[in-house]
Amino acid sequence: MSLLRHTKGGEIKERLALTVNPAKTCQPIGAMYAALGIHGCLPHSHGSQGCCAYHRSTLTRHYKEPAMAATSSFTEGSSVFGGQANLLQAIQNIFTLYKPEVIAVHTTCLSETIGDDIPQIFEKARADGLVPEGKFLIHANTPSYVGSHVTGYANMARAMVKYLAKSSDEVRSRQVTIIPGWVEPADIREIKGIVRLFGLDPVTFPDTSDVLDSPQTGVFSMYPRGGATVDQIRSSGDSIASIALGPTCAGPAAKLLEEKCRVKSIALPIPIGLQATDRFVMALAKISGGKVPHELARQRGRLLDLMTDMHQYFYGKTVGLWGDPDQLVPLSQFLMSVDMLPKYVVTGSPGKVFLRRMGKILGDRAHDTQVRQGPQADMFLLHQWIKNEKVDLLIGNTYGKYIARDENIPFVRHGFPILDRIGHQYFPTVGYMGAIRLLEMMLAAFMDKQDRESPEESFELTM
Ligand code: SF4
Repeated sequence: MSLLRHTKGGEIKERLALTVNPAKTCQPIGAMYAALGIHGCLPHSHGSQGCCAYHRSTLTRHYKEPAMAATSSFTEGSSVFGGQANLLQAIQNIFTLYKPEVIAVHTTCLSETIGDDIPQIFEKARADGLVPEGKFLIHANTPSYVGSHVTGYANMARAMVKYLAKSSDEVRSRQVTIIPGWVEPADIREIKGIVRLFGLDPVTFPDTSDVLDSPQTGVFSMYPRGGATVDQIRSSGDSIASIALGPTCAGPAAKLLEEKCRVKSIALPIPIGLQATDRFVMALAKISGGKVPHELARQRGRLLDLMTDMHQYFYGKTVGLWGDPDQLVPLSQFLMSVDMLPKYVVTGSPGKVFLRRMGKILGDRAHDTQVRQGPQADMFLLHQWIKNEKVDLLIGNTYGKYIARDENIPFVRHGFPILDRIGHQYFPTVGYMGAIRLLEMMLAAFMDKQDRESPEESFELTM
């Protein structure tokens, strides 16, 4: 039940220090999710068992797949004296028992507060002969008292470039590095498919496709066949260009690749909706030096057809949104393109350009909306706004279902985490086909409500 079920709207008091039902989650979850996008990688949580269990269980509930990860398993002793001994033991055990190609270590609040120096511990592990030949250790600092799951993802994606990418001075003229923001495995597959239509070879990392949506083969595999291999990530230093999809999650890795290996970086939004996909497609056309493939033009045409045919159902509808900055910006732009208004938008995640980009997208409708970012931009605030003035649709992760139920508002699940449905990991919402799916989900939510509530005499068989 939501906290506000039995209340009416009214004056909203500004809170300065209290967050109620945050519109974000914990940094290490993002680092763990990103690390699973390396083939043969075991994420390692340097902290207590509880943190690791929470992060694994959230990913497992979202993907309905086991999310493998190890932990330094801190006890009182390590909390006082530091976690070096635990991590060294863990590195030895993991390489001996589970034989990954890479161990990707992320920190937690506890190990950050102690101040464990992970690179120094890695040096000791190598000096002690605990890292077998040809195997890798990488790490990202992910203190959860700053940032969010988005920051953790960005930090681990950047660590992949820092530790693994190399320039061999042999530019691969058809290879383009794609650093997807936080999207679903199906989205990554769709993005790679779009790049290949241009005759380009995508090196994509993190790549969780075929890892967190791997097929049933009857045989358990600790490391499913998906994910970017170390060799692929290493070769990203020779790509003709890199495309960062989402400035918050992917931007830092692409910038580092440019600094380290002189690979030109192009920052774009996640290709959600018509305009953002157009930008992605045009960037690929420019890199490839070719025309937009016929297949993509046909997909775009189908999307346009649906947008115009169904416009009557979208026109003038208001929407409440919550989630990650990289998703909210193109999603809001897409809603505006079908004449819907993203009336309330909240994110607990940082992202320097978020408010500016939202302002640009909303344009002269900005005064009709509430957009908030930061610790107090939470689900409680969103519900308070809705109590004062209702919206026609909610779009966000599972946590919105309490508001949707209390206020009887159609609800489309999108973002992370989605704990109570399937589909998000299998059906993309990026690209033109993904935009069609988003429209289909929105329309279904509107129609379901209409069918539920219409009186007998106006209960229609057709739209
Ligand atoms: S917020 Fe900190 S202590 Fe809590 S689960 Fe996340 S890393 Fe662990």
